[in-house]
Amino acid sequence: PKTYDVVIVGGGAAGIATASSLLKRRPSLDIAIVEPAECHYYQPGWTMVGAGVFQPETTRVPMGAVMPDRVTWIRQAAAGFAPDAREIALADGSSLRYRILVAAPGLRLAWEAIPGLAEALGRNGVTSNYRFDLAPYTFRLASTVQGGRALFTQPAMPIKCAGAPQKAMYLSCDIWRAAGVLPRMEVEFHNAGGVLFGVPTYVPALMEYVERYGIGLNFGSTLVGVDGDAGVATFERKGSDGTAERVERDFDMLHAVPPQRPLDVVAASPLAGAGGWIEVDPATLRHVRHPDVFALGDATNTPNAKTAAAARKQAPVVAVNVLAALEGKAPAAQYDGYGSCPLTVERGKIVLAEFGYGGALLPTFPRWILDGSRPTRLAWFLKDRMLPPIYWHAMLKGREWLCQPQPVVPSKEAA
Ligand code: FAD
Repeated sequence: PKTYDVVIVGGGAAGIATASSLLKRRPSLDIAIVEPAECHYYQPGWTMVGAGVFQPETTRVPMGAVMPDRVTWIRQAAAGFAPDAREIALADGSSLRYRILVAAPGLRLAWEAIPGLAEALGRNGVTSNYRFDLAPYTFRLASTVQGGRALFTQPAMPIKCAGAPQKAMYLSCDIWRAAGVLPRMEVEFHNAGGVLFGVPTYVPALMEYVERYGIGLNFGSTLVGVDGDAGVATFERKGSDGTAERVERDFDMLHAVPPQRPLDVVAASPLAGAGGWIEVDPATLRHVRHPDVFALGDATNTPNAKTAAAARKQAPVVAVNVLAALEGKAPAAQYDGYGSCPLTVERGKIVLAEFGYGGALLPTFPRWILDGSRPTRLAWFLKDRMLPPIYWHAMLKGREWLCQPQPVVPSKEAA
C-alpha cells in the first residue's frame, strides 16, 4: 500500500480544518483524506433551519468543494485501524499506510436505540434537527401546530452541541409566541441528565426563557420509545431513590435527539479507550498509546463540549503537533478545551456559552462588548451572519483568525 505523510480519517469540520491548517504550514505535505460521504454539512446551521432562519441548502456542499486542492481524497470509509503497522483498512479491502494518522470520523447518531423512533421520524409530528432532511420539518411543525403538547428530548451525555435540544425548543416556542399560539401549547423538556446546562453561569438566563415560555422541566427523564401512529412517547424516569418508572406522554409534536455513540469501527479498534471514544491526551490531542496518532472533533474522549467551535481550536493544535511528530519532536501546542454553544433563546437573541475544560469560562470578547451570560443581539448577529462565513472561508481554509494555538509550556519568563 501507498504511504502518505499524513492520513486524515473523516472530511467533516475537524478533518478538513486540520488538512488546511497542515497545508498552510507545509504546502509540500502528502496528505490523504479518507471520507466516504458525497456531501459536507455545516451542522451548526441546522438549528437555524429548524426555525426557518436558514435555507437547508446553505448548510450542504458537495464534498469535493471543501477538499483542499493538494490532498488526495480517498472516497471510502475507514474499516479498521492497525496503529502498530501504521496502516488503516478501507471498506473495499485495500489499505493505506501513513507516517502520522489524524482520526476525525465524528460520532454515530444511535436512532435505533429508541424503539419506534426511526420509523416515526418525518411524519406524525416527530422530528429532529439532528438530521439535514428533518430540520425543515421542525420549522413546518412549529409553523402549523395550533395547540396541544410539544415534547423536546435530550439523551444522556456526551452529545454534540449539548445546547441544541433546547435551542430547538426555545425557537419553536418563540414562533408560537409570535403567532399567539403559545397559550394553547403545553411544552415539556425531557432531559436524561440532571441540569438544564452543564456550566452554571448560563442557567439563570435560560431559566428566564423556560418561565417566559411556560416550559415544564423534567430531569432524569429519558426517551425510551415512540409510537408515531398513536402519538405517544415513553420515558424512563429515575426517582431519587434509584428506582425507575415508565411514563407515557401523548404529543402533537416531538423533537427527539438520539443517543450518541462512538463509531463501531472506532470502538472496535486499538484507538478506543473506555466507552469506545478515541483516547487522546486532552491538551496535545496525541493518542495516549500510539504516538503516531492524533485525534480531534466529536470522536475523542476529551471532556470538552463536542462542537465545531472546539474543532476550530483543535485543528491548529493538531497541525502544529503533527508537524513536530513528523520531525520526531515532542508536541509543541496545546488545546484548552474551548467549545462554544450559541443558545438561541429567541429569534434575534442568543446566550453565547463559551467555556473550556472544567467549565472554565473562555469568552472571545470582553464582557462590555458581549456578555455571554445574558441574551444579546450581537451574539445572534454572530451566529446568523458571521459564523457561517467564518466556518466556510476561515476554518475550512486554514485561516486561523482568533485561534492561534497556544504553546505547550506557557513561558512565564516571556511575560
Ligand atoms: P463531523 O463534522 O460530523 O464529520 C465527521 C466526518 O467523518 C463525516 O464527514 C463522515 O462522513 C466521516 N466519516 C464517518 N465515518 C467514517 C469512516 N468510517 N471513515 C471515514 N470517514 C468517516 N457546533 C458548534 O460549534 N456550534 C453549534 O451551534 C452547533 N450546533 C449543532 C447543532 C446540531 C443540530 C448538530 C447536529 C451539531 C451542532 N454542532 C454545533 C456540532 C458540530 O456540528 C460538530 O461538533 C462538528 O461537526 C464535529 O466535527 P467532526 O469533524 O468531528 O464531525
